[in-house]
Amino acid sequence: DFDSLDVVNNDRDHVWHHLAQHKPFEKTGPMVIVKGEGMRVWDSKGNEYLDAVSGAVWTVNVGYGRTEIADAVRDQLVEMNYFAQTAGNVPAAKFSKKLIDKMPGMNRVYFSNSGSEANEKAFKIVRQIAHKKYGGKKTKILYRDRDYHGTTIATLSASGQYERRNQYGPFVPDFVEVPHCCEYRAQDDADKSDYGVWAANQIEKVILAEGADTIGALCLEPITAGGGVIEAPAGYWPRVQEICKQYDILLHIDEVVCGLGRTGTWFGYQHYGVKPDIVTMAKGVASGYAAISCTVTTEAVFEMFKEDEDPRMGYFRDISTFGGCTAGPAAALVNMEIIENENLLENASHQGEYLRGRLNDLKEKYPIIGDVRGKGLLVGIELVKDRSTREPVEEETVMAVAGHCMTNGVIIGRTNRSFKALNNTICLAPALISTKEDMDQLVAALDDAIADIASKM
Ligand code: PMP
Repeated sequence: DFDSLDVVNNDRDHVWHHLAQHKPFEKTGPMVIVKGEGMRVWDSKGNEYLDAVSGAVWTVNVGYGRTEIADAVRDQLVEMNYFAQTAGNVPAAKFSKKLIDKMPGMNRVYFSNSGSEANEKAFKIVRQIAHKKYGGKKTKILYRDRDYHGTTIATLSASGQYERRNQYGPFVPDFVEVPHCCEYRAQDDADKSDYGVWAANQIEKVILAEGADTIGALCLEPITAGGGVIEAPAGYWPRVQEICKQYDILLHIDEVVCGLGRTGTWFGYQHYGVKPDIVTMAKGVASGYAAISCTVTTEAVFEMFKEDEDPRMGYFRDISTFGGCTAGPAAALVNMEIIENENLLENASHQGEYLRGRLNDLKEKYPIIGDVRGKGLLVGIELVKDRSTREPVEEETVMAVAGHCMTNGVIIGRTNRSFKALNNTICLAPALISTKEDMDQLVAALDDAIADIASKM
């Protein structure tokens, strides 16, 4: 009985987390999760939930209670817990090899501890190259207005509509915004007959306006996650690749959400045949069993730091104290083995198809469902007041659906509410071990919740 340990009171009184002072939890504090097993978690009051967002933020890809990962971490910590990346270590070397085998074209792994930090490292590489190769030009980094890249000042500078970011300003210079590619919310002047190419061409317009010789990189999520689960339409990625090549711009893909199987391939970009120069990843790398993130580059990017290296310039000297040591890669290695041994990529594709099929059935039933989209087990359901105008529902409506599901023992997610407008999308990212029964339970909870909310509108 965790309540007798006073965890809820201690949490309310002392922990600074983002729900601690949130109105509905003023008296009780937010729920405290005390146990997980498979797809399910339990709170301190003993309530059981089906977790359809893998730890609230699409992280626990292989599910809870994986003793094989916990054992590997324990064994590694007993054997050798820490030595900085000034030296090599066994799990980092083994995991790098395994990871690179799944990323044809990529070759070098830099380790750190969070998605934000992995993106910071990518930005730093771009800036270093700007100085090293382009005499201080090409320092600008393009980011998309509905993408999110992290919590640090530089990653917030690259996170489009993060409304609350203004309290953290001023931002890092030379981050430049380009438009999203959400076909359901296509810009008024868009060419709807070839929207993918049109949307990619909007990036080119910004490049030309800024001057191609000032732009070092384009940073994109393979599928925008927190901004509303937005997959780029056909034609987009090939055109993006062409633009990057034409203007000598590095393509940095942020796989923090999609990476390690979530969309049914190892990485989201692999659906589109695109060839990035830098790939960042975090959450699903060790499914939440250890803090680990990676910035992976091509050998060509790495090579740029090799020639006439001046050790005082620190091209290689960039140590993150805990990066790559050693619990992280030990967990990540077993995480990848589980995905392979249990065929979780295929399962993610298969269960995702099934889930979207069932959600499209719900769409027939409820006009409030404007759009169902996603890939593999990354799914978005956009709610609208009116299908023909696509006017978004209020944020409260999405919160009510989530609250109703929670009462029925199912945890769902929603658009990052820090974004301006468009807080109208339900986000689902159940673990890759999902079964048909889990998907049925999830759809039943959504059906019930939407029926209730729709009847009150
Ligand atoms: N990139 C993306 C696409 C993300 O969704 C997130 C986290 N939600 C981050 C980066 C930042 O990762 P972290 O919270 O581990 O710093």
